[in-house]
Amino acid sequence: MKTIQNWVDGELYTGTPDGTVPVENPATGEIEGELLLASQADLDHTVEVARKAQKEWAKTPLARRTAIMFKMRELVLANQDEIAKAIVAEHGKDYSDAIGEIQRGRETLDFATGINVALKGEYSYDVSTGVDVHAIRQPVGVVAGICPFNFPVMVPMWMHPIAIATGNAFILKPATPTPSASLIIARLYKEAGLPDGIFNVLAGEKEQVTRILEHPGIDAISFVGSTPVAHIIQDKAIQNGKRVQALGGANNHAIVLPDADLDFAAKHLSAAAFGAAGERCMALPVVVAVGGVGEKLARLIKDNATQIKVGYGMDEGVQMGPVISSAAKSRIVNLVDDAEQGGANVVLDGRDLVIEGKEGGHFLGPTIVTKASTDSNLYKQEVFGPVLTIVEADTYEEAIGIVNSSEFGNGAAIFTNDGGMARKFKLEVEAGMVGINVPIPTPVAYYSFGGWKQSLLGDHHIHGPEGVRFYTRAKAITTRWPSESGSYEASMSFVRED
Ligand code: NAD
Repeated sequence: MKTIQNWVDGELYTGTPDGTVPVENPATGEIEGELLLASQADLDHTVEVARKAQKEWAKTPLARRTAIMFKMRELVLANQDEIAKAIVAEHGKDYSDAIGEIQRGRETLDFATGINVALKGEYSYDVSTGVDVHAIRQPVGVVAGICPFNFPVMVPMWMHPIAIATGNAFILKPATPTPSASLIIARLYKEAGLPDGIFNVLAGEKEQVTRILEHPGIDAISFVGSTPVAHIIQDKAIQNGKRVQALGGANNHAIVLPDADLDFAAKHLSAAAFGAAGERCMALPVVVAVGGVGEKLARLIKDNATQIKVGYGMDEGVQMGPVISSAAKSRIVNLVDDAEQGGANVVLDGRDLVIEGKEGGHFLGPTIVTKASTDSNLYKQEVFGPVLTIVEADTYEEAIGIVNSSEFGNGAAIFTNDGGMARKFKLEVEAGMVGINVPIPTPVAYYSFGGWKQSLLGDHHIHGPEGVRFYTRAKAITTRWPSESGSYEASMSFVRED
């Protein structure tokens, strides 16, 4: 049994842990590691180290900072096999999806290599006689990133490359089921030349999150996880005077209009619903079929879904792994059971799937449900599993009403060949990320990522230009040189010369 440590001040760190939690391989159900839970003393030490390191790092020239990001990008690429295997072992997703996750995370490193451009300031001269104004953005200080289990590499990478490149120190609090990949990232940052103390990994559960939120030495919090926890994080961070962004859960919908290419839509919807066993905040668990196409669409999606190979993520050809835990599996099965008892049809049933040789794994097969009530928990809640619910609407107006009545607003998509309808949808839909014939409209890293309503609390989306704003504070500087303006008069009033 391996011990999974933390990473502080440029090296693996044991500290004085508050105990351990087991780390399970969800494909086998076996405990493969024990994760050290950092204590208050460990957090105090880490914050002290990070604050000290950050003061020097903020003064490090942009050329040096971007050079480190270029090197880090190369190292992540060169080591992606090791990172992907760590993801598969603790999360369970298949190897090629883990490589995809790393690639999507690396896009933020790409963006951070150009941080010099993103940090260019503003300048206005002669705003008054002999007076110039310019604005710069400076790092906020020490930033903590509190992350979910489902993207152990990509979600933290939405945060740390930009936080670090803009001159901050970063403390990552990984999700306890999936901590190991973060330690590889920490090692690679060191190899890339990042000074010790700028990237740290401290594991913990909710007690440790509370300490992070209360710690006076931490200036800003980026959180990604479920909505109930996002509320806790946002409330507590604000009470403690911290800048906070808290991305929450989702229940993404796609509308399929009758003019859509149904074969094309079915193929993409199947991949979007069942990829990563539905454990993506941009997964697509609800389809609203318009104008009588529901039955045909369900049949076509089923044809695609039955071809998905479910199994152990490292096995050849596997396209979908287990869900994260036996508790998650029971919760998902219960949601389907309840909907079925309420009158829904389970047209493809993955509840009883067992994978030979991996009987202890938390596997579910792709599951498709039709005729579920929009009052059912299956429809209303975030399922976070491989279940697709197809509901029907007579018209586009009815369909957009269904989509916009969701409490969440992360992603939304439409399948149609009608440009006018697509345009209407993109303007009317209440979601932060919209796809037109694209079921998972995750923006590239030089745009920002974030939902509306209960899918994002706080003002800023994550990564891209909004990430730069979140991790920096504005400073406006007004300058006058007496020798230039030729005037030694000082005005006692607040009047500005115009
Ligand atoms: P979670 O909310 O249970 O945990 C997220 C983090 O918060 C973890 O680090 C966890 O240790 C910590 N935490 C959990 N309970 C806490 C509490 N009571 N107080 C303080 N901290 C607590 O989420 P999860 O199950 O790890 O991840 C799945 C969720 O994350 C889903 O809801 C999914 O939609 C969401 N998610 C959202 C996005 C997005 O971009 N909006 C991206 C990925 C995942």
